[in-house]
Amino acid sequence: MFDSLSDRLGTVFDRLRGRGALTEADVRGAMREVRIALLEADVALPVVRSFVEQVTELAVGQDVLRSVTPGQMVVKIVHDGLVEMLGSQSSELDIDVTPPAVVMMVGLQGSGKTTTTAKIAKRLKDKQGKRVLMASLDVNRPAAQEQLATLGAQIDVATLPIVAGQMPVDIAKRALQSAKLQAFDVVLLDTAGRLHVDQQLMDEMQAVARIATPTEMLLVVDSLAGQDAVQVAQNFSEQVALTGVVLTRMDGDARGGAALSMRAVTGKPIKFAGVGEKLDALEIFDPSRVAGRILGMGDVVSLVERAAETINQEDAEAMAAKMAKGQFDLNDLRMQLKQMAQMGGLGALAGMIPGMKKAQAAMAQGGVDDKMLVHMDAMIGSMTPKERAAPQIINAKRKIRIAKGSGTTVQSVNRLLKMHKDMATAMKKIRKMGGLKGLAGMLG
Ligand code: GDP
Repeated sequence: MFDSLSDRLGTVFDRLRGRGALTEADVRGAMREVRIALLEADVALPVVRSFVEQVTELAVGQDVLRSVTPGQMVVKIVHDGLVEMLGSQSSELDIDVTPPAVVMMVGLQGSGKTTTTAKIAKRLKDKQGKRVLMASLDVNRPAAQEQLATLGAQIDVATLPIVAGQMPVDIAKRALQSAKLQAFDVVLLDTAGRLHVDQQLMDEMQAVARIATPTEMLLVVDSLAGQDAVQVAQNFSEQVALTGVVLTRMDGDARGGAALSMRAVTGKPIKFAGVGEKLDALEIFDPSRVAGRILGMGDVVSLVERAAETINQEDAEAMAAKMAKGQFDLNDLRMQLKQMAQMGGLGALAGMIPGMKKAQAAMAQGGVDDKMLVHMDAMIGSMTPKERAAPQIINAKRKIRIAKGSGTTVQSVNRLLKMHKDMATAMKKIRKMGGLKGLAGMLG
């Protein structure tokens, strides 16, 4: 997400950072380019205008221009401005009430409402141990209720049994009753969508909200719809008491303008971002991280979180202990490759680590890609346990055998061994510098 915006701003700021002193004219020039970049990313005009005005005023201050690193400070001001525009803080769902808490999902048809309902249910169940009941109030779209039931079965979350011919308000009442009787913690109501905003839909939402008294009313919008999404959000926020927004298809949205405008237009926080069709492809929307990503500062927090989720704690500790002793063999390399693949491959990692995008382009030119991760795994798989533990014994004859066994070439085996050697050397150096803790200290 945000790739093209991120590229454009990156160029503007690289120029600013590259200079020692800055004049007011330099900063104003850069801000003009920021303005164009935001408009091209499809951010709503009034939002761009107030953002650029505010940021410029701060950035041309004498404290900034006379500072030792004016370029860095301007970038920081833009970063803080973006964070504010996106809503300052990430906000969790408000479900801290006497159960059952009701979360109402609203939005147009095709926005990803049903999928998002299931994603949120899965998240509440897996991460917070909540007992969740989902109910579809969509009596317009054929098979909408069945769709939710199917998703519920996939993620092992209960859905309200379907009663043919029942109206939305009655379904909502029945859902609340069931939830109370069966001691569910949270009820998710997936309401009906329409192709366009219309009064009948709004009346229905209001009627359901009156009897269900939700603590959360989340508007689901398709980020790919750009300015239309902003319009839809505005319409909904004028008619129903939204508490937050979920932006779907952020995985396909390189421009990101809808996301950047949403908070300013609705006054409500973006709570989640949908980043894929799979039911775990939902991220908490954290403004400061997203701003960091947009400015190419990397999203180290997401990376660490994802690592913590995918990497087995014991494996990680065993690896850390080995590294601390300066031992790093091919078994360890293999484990690291596996973890990289689990974390979404090189592409997923590239967006999160500062400077990785350029490195990835270089690696792709050098023939390192996700396929290569698979090849490397195959090569290590074709080695004997002795070879993995002591790679120095791998002579020419052994290399030929390994290449044949893994369907690769001797050159590939050589590259793998060189990579391992470089990594082992790097780890020894890290150890000399005081281990990973020392390194973390240096990185600040
Ligand atoms: P609804 O009509 O609003 O309930 O929409 P659905 O939940 O049925 O979603 C419509 C389509 O969008 C489905 O094919 C979903 O898999 C897909 N979809 C939903 N959210 C996302 C997302 O965050 N990313 C991507 N790539 N696809 C999504």
